[in-house]
Amino acid sequence: MWFEKSSQEIIKEFNTDVVNGLSSEEALIRREKYGPNKLAEKKEQSILKLLFEQINDVLIYILLGAAVISALLKEISDAVIIVIIVVLNAIIGLIQESKAEKALEALKKLSFPKALVKRNGQIMEISSEDVVVGDIVILEAGKYIPCDLRLIETANLKIEESALTGESVPSQKYAENILKSENIALGDQRNMAFMSTMVTYGRGVGVAVAVGMDTEIGKIAKMLEENKKNSTPLQIKLAQLGKMLGFVVLIICLLMFVVAVIQKRDLFEMFLTAISLAVAAIPEGLPAMVTIVLAVGVQRMIKKNAIIRKLPAIETLGSVNIICSDKTGTLTQNKMTVTRFYADGVLNDISYLDMNNRVHSALVKDMVLCSDATYSEDSRTGDPTEIALLELGVKFNIYKDNENELHSRVDEIPFDSDRKLMTTLNKFGDKYNIITKGAVDNLIKICKSIYANGNMVPFTEELKSKVTAASDSMSNDALRVLGTAFRVVDSTEIEIDSMESDLTFVGLVGMIDPPRENVEKSIEECRKSGIRTVMITGDHKNTAFAIAKELGIAEDSSQVVSGYEFNKLSGSEIEDKIDNLRVFARVSPEHKVNIVRALKKRGNIVSMTGDGVNDAPSLKAADIGVAMGITGTDVAKGASDMILTDDNFSTIVEAVKEGRNIYNNIRKSIVFLLSCNIGEIIALFIGIVLGWPAVLRPIHLLWVNLITDSLPALALGVEPDDPDIMKEKPRDAKKGLFSGKSGVFLIGNGILIGVITLAAFYIGNTIYPNSLMHAQTMAFVVLSVSQLFYTLSIRHSEKSIFEIGIFTNKYLVGAIVLGIVMVNMVIMIPFLASVFKAFRLTLNDWLFVFLLSIIPFILNELGKLIYRKLEKK
Ligand code: ADP
Ligand code: MG
Repeated sequence: MWFEKSSQEIIKEFNTDVVNGLSSEEALIRREKYGPNKLAEKKEQSILKLLFEQINDVLIYILLGAAVISALLKEISDAVIIVIIVVLNAIIGLIQESKAEKALEALKKLSFPKALVKRNGQIMEISSEDVVVGDIVILEAGKYIPCDLRLIETANLKIEESALTGESVPSQKYAENILKSENIALGDQRNMAFMSTMVTYGRGVGVAVAVGMDTEIGKIAKMLEENKKNSTPLQIKLAQLGKMLGFVVLIICLLMFVVAVIQKRDLFEMFLTAISLAVAAIPEGLPAMVTIVLAVGVQRMIKKNAIIRKLPAIETLGSVNIICSDKTGTLTQNKMTVTRFYADGVLNDISYLDMNNRVHSALVKDMVLCSDATYSEDSRTGDPTEIALLELGVKFNIYKDNENELHSRVDEIPFDSDRKLMTTLNKFGDKYNIITKGAVDNLIKICKSIYANGNMVPFTEELKSKVTAASDSMSNDALRVLGTAFRVVDSTEIEIDSMESDLTFVGLVGMIDPPRENVEKSIEECRKSGIRTVMITGDHKNTAFAIAKELGIAEDSSQVVSGYEFNKLSGSEIEDKIDNLRVFARVSPEHKVNIVRALKKRGNIVSMTGDGVNDAPSLKAADIGVAMGITGTDVAKGASDMILTDDNFSTIVEAVKEGRNIYNNIRKSIVFLLSCNIGEIIALFIGIVLGWPAVLRPIHLLWVNLITDSLPALALGVEPDDPDIMKEKPRDAKKGLFSGKSGVFLIGNGILIGVITLAAFYIGNTIYPNSLMHAQTMAFVVLSVSQLFYTLSIRHSEKSIFEIGIFTNKYLVGAIVLGIVMVNMVIMIPFLASVFKAFRLTLNDWLFVFLLSIIPFILNELGKLIYRKLEKK
């Protein structure tokens, strides 16, 4: 067992090097030997099996059975055509589903976590898949553990192992050896870190001892292997709708059959018709269509820097009416520059810093020492706040590397956004200095004295208020303010908990962080479209308000509240105030959850951003949890619905736009499919009830279904973005898909299509009373072509097709042309015509069916025209 061995033994056993890590050649060899570091995926299914799954439906069986019987009874051609159509349908379904699957697969890869390892003496970020045994892996707060590790170095490392042990309280980890003992539980192996668990606090280094399926989680992975298909609420709703519709259609078909029995029609013919109608009118392709449209939308979003992790997010995005956004890095550039300072009673521009003044130089040196960022000529890594501090040092010839050599770090308490402080313990000669830096208000509370004139003097209320005034003055100018303080101790034997106390205050720095470009525009766009922007930040109230004002988020200081004040409000006070609040300052992650809950309670659909480990709960609580792609931790990403690859606020707004468009497009496809199905049912059912001969032959119906249910519906689903989408208010999430206009539109058009098909048959039958084939062909053409034309009208619910341009959706034009060709093939190609029993229509007939077929299109366009006129008034 790894945990029993000492770190030296482990390092020897895996033939690795703590300082330099593996060489890339060695890593490559090991990767070849052991394979990628990932859990086995489910096996791929054969095409035949997938195809079979498409056909695996009771109705299709009955249809095929009927086809066989009809082959035995009469001609084989009907049967062959039915089989061909069923297979074609299955292939289309298969292509659709595999497309959707692939897109989702690609998505999974995108959000695959990365690992920090040492290779060739350098720390680098690699895909977790490429980690091999023997790799030296660096851990920090917020990272997923990429494989099983034997820890060799830790600094207050805490790991949450619930994925493995079910224990949700993070456990403290050490690098020390554990005495040999039998059956020690995973949770007690304190010097091990396991794949798929996550670091919640501190830092650490470990040697990779097992990868992929050899890891502890790999051993139990079989239990997790069943891939859960998580459907979106819309998909679930549609599946239910589909079932219900299927039921209704079956009832109607049964009814139709009963009527036919009473009328003493040819029973077998009627049976085949009823089954074909059921197959045609049940929208079995709906869920796949929706998945495809969602997947295509997801791809489009990636190009706009938003990665959707959970499909339901797309639908929800469309109804978001509050965007809560972090300030730093999302609304601002996160490019910090120190511009002002306060020390030794002076508040001034940093050019007035005087390195001969002991307080001034202590301010700069302490800020540089108490930081995890790195600085070199051509590269900087780490938190921009800390980089700004190192850059400040460089201006005064104070380099972190030199300082670190002089004053090596022996202990540390990392920064977290609850305390808003960070502390290090550094060697100063034969003594040690505790150095703390962080938010002024919190820092002042733990200071007893202040460094002034090279002396430590008691921190009186008067001096404190001077510091606060200096801090306020900087934050009123939108500067982020950080203070620093220290204490000299004799030894390193000091309790972590007592480090941040009894300090001596040194000074303050203020740094600017300019707003991102375009953010102001995006906020304005949100405002116009009924979306409220709310700023959430750990920064000071004044800093936050100053920037919020600049960006147009808030106008009045009554719209600003601190996390602490907010938490003290009573339920009813929150109710009263929350609609007016725009800025939450000095917020800790726990406040964030309360903010989300309070906003949601008012019926809002809330999106919330986050990056740290502690942000996970609020990301989960929000309707849309948004994680930062660049600065975000794996944990935040894991809890999110969407990841911003550029950390930019404007990207959230783009995603909302895309979400609205996608939802609308899906609705268009569904309205189209359902109204066409209603049309088909009406044409056949009414025809039977009126005692007419069959308006359409079964294979006609199946052919129409093949033409209209696939490509045109999909083409509507990928309709280009509506540029005016942000002029609308957010969609009410509680309202159904067909509430309001859509429902009326759907049923009205269904009836219309049914009626014109009946009319075509009636007229055909009147002109050619002796040729049933002739009338059926006319009905067949009108039913299919009217649906194709009608798609053009569905593209926009208010604008006319000429306003949006016929050719702006090339897929749809293609689908319409192909559809018309497929209708014509059946009529024009003699062989097909004989199989389909289609009549070669005369020129007059064509003119006539054409006129009938454009009726739904014309009426819809007229309807929109009238609607627009009325709305203007
Ligand atoms: P934000 O929401 O702006 O990212 P943070 O929680 O990161 O807020 O920061 C809140 C406050 O904590 C800042 O105003 C600053 O005073 C302090 N702070 C930020 N980063 C650090 C750091 N690396 N070390 C010490 N203090 C910091
Ligand atoms: Mg921050």
